[in-house]
Amino acid sequence: MRYVSTRGQAPAVGFTDAVLGGLAPDGGLYVPQAWPQIGRDEIAGFAAMPYADVAARILGAFAGDEIPAAEMRLLTREAYATFSHAAVVPLTQIAPQTFIAELFHGPSLAFKDVAMQILARLYDHILGRQGRRQTILCATSGDTGGAAVEAFRGAKNVRVVAMFPEGRISEVQRRFMTTASEGNIACVAVKGTFDDCQAILKDAFQDQALRQAVDLAAVNSINFARIAAQAVYYFTTAAALGAPDRAVNFVVPSGNFGDAFAGYAAQRMGLPIARIVVATNSNDILARAFASGRYARGAVQATLSPAMDIQSASNFERLYFEGVQREATETARAFEAFGKAGVIDIPPGALSAMQAVFQGVAIGEAETVRTMVATLNETGELIDPHTAVAVSALDHVRLDGPAVVLSTAHPAKFPDDVAKATGVTPSLPRGVTSLADRPERFDRLPAEPDTVKAYVRAFADA
Ligand SMILES: *Cc1c(COP(=O)(O)O)cnc(C)c1O
Repeated sequence: MRYVSTRGQAPAVGFTDAVLGGLAPDGGLYVPQAWPQIGRDEIAGFAAMPYADVAARILGAFAGDEIPAAEMRLLTREAYATFSHAAVVPLTQIAPQTFIAELFHGPSLAFKDVAMQILARLYDHILGRQGRRQTILCATSGDTGGAAVEAFRGAKNVRVVAMFPEGRISEVQRRFMTTASEGNIACVAVKGTFDDCQAILKDAFQDQALRQAVDLAAVNSINFARIAAQAVYYFTTAAALGAPDRAVNFVVPSGNFGDAFAGYAAQRMGLPIARIVVATNSNDILARAFASGRYARGAVQATLSPAMDIQSASNFERLYFEGVQREATETARAFEAFGKAGVIDIPPGALSAMQAVFQGVAIGEAETVRTMVATLNETGELIDPHTAVAVSALDHVRLDGPAVVLSTAHPAKFPDDVAKATGVTPSLPRGVTSLADRPERFDRLPAEPDTVKAYVRAFADA
């Protein structure tokens, strides 16, 4: 399986290079040269298989012969053994035709774990084979850092430096990073904002000497392995609900569009998905784009669902590339222009191809709160604000057949907002209750690129 860049100016690479490379050298995103196909009988068979084995099958289809099937099975079994639920991604019913897929049973209680746990093992495996060691630098405003630390702690060939803006993330989010005791993890509280952290990250990746010295890597949501890993639960949940004989709808709380694009990938691989509803908070760039054909950046607003406070959804470039029938020159033109002007007018043909699958809905704060309350009253289920955005979206669309809402965070990850809305304080699940007692370890640094870069270099050399 070869991977091509959405901008067409980078050579095609294999799976391992696409995974380690992240962004393509021409600034584009890697996509498979052709979507691998999963047959109807096999989809039906997924209903009776352990999650980790379905993951090995789907990821194996993307890896081709670069990772032996038996090896992949070991990696996925290890990755999903870290989840606290035997089904890994269990389904809960909340209405006659409505189900919630709980993606939050991983170690950091957010759906990022589903992809990050296997990504970390793929990295360590590939780097070990190549005799290489990398340093991952990440800047987090919430869930990504915790998921990365949980996934990579103890990795032999990878060190992680996780930066976060001091005092601007929740205590639970901070503790998921700072309580890791393994020596390959370093956490940095930056005296500044998340934007300062991102500026430092950008500076570090542009510093060729540093990149070479520490073999710098990123694990952001444009990494294709994350998309591949997220396609898995579309298959397992649809199979549990009767696929391929019954088409299933999905409602996805969306920020960077990685999760929703994974559903598109599953559909292209042969899974009968009726519609994918993209639910956003008031940062509604995607909802506006699917409705109007104009993909236009707005000002970012802080909401109750902070992981979705995003006004340029990086994975949208992959869908655009498919929408314009893989015209890389047009994709490069559109996204280079978006980088400058912050707007793309989607060509009519591409827009109708997108609308055949996707529909966007934007949900405000008051409705998010009302939905948390109503869901608790009607079903006894406590849901987090991100999930509530998606449950709310169901009231604005007409769907045929069953709908699966992807639940992306455990309510205990946002205890204050959930308690304020519902009057019920969610408790941490078994296994993570010790989070508050474990000692924290992190360094405080000023928001200066040179200081942070020197820190990264010293940590990688140690
Ligand atoms: C990251 C995240 C999202 C958004 O996922 P995308 O793939 O960026 O669209 C939604 N909810 C939670 C809790 C998240 O952490």
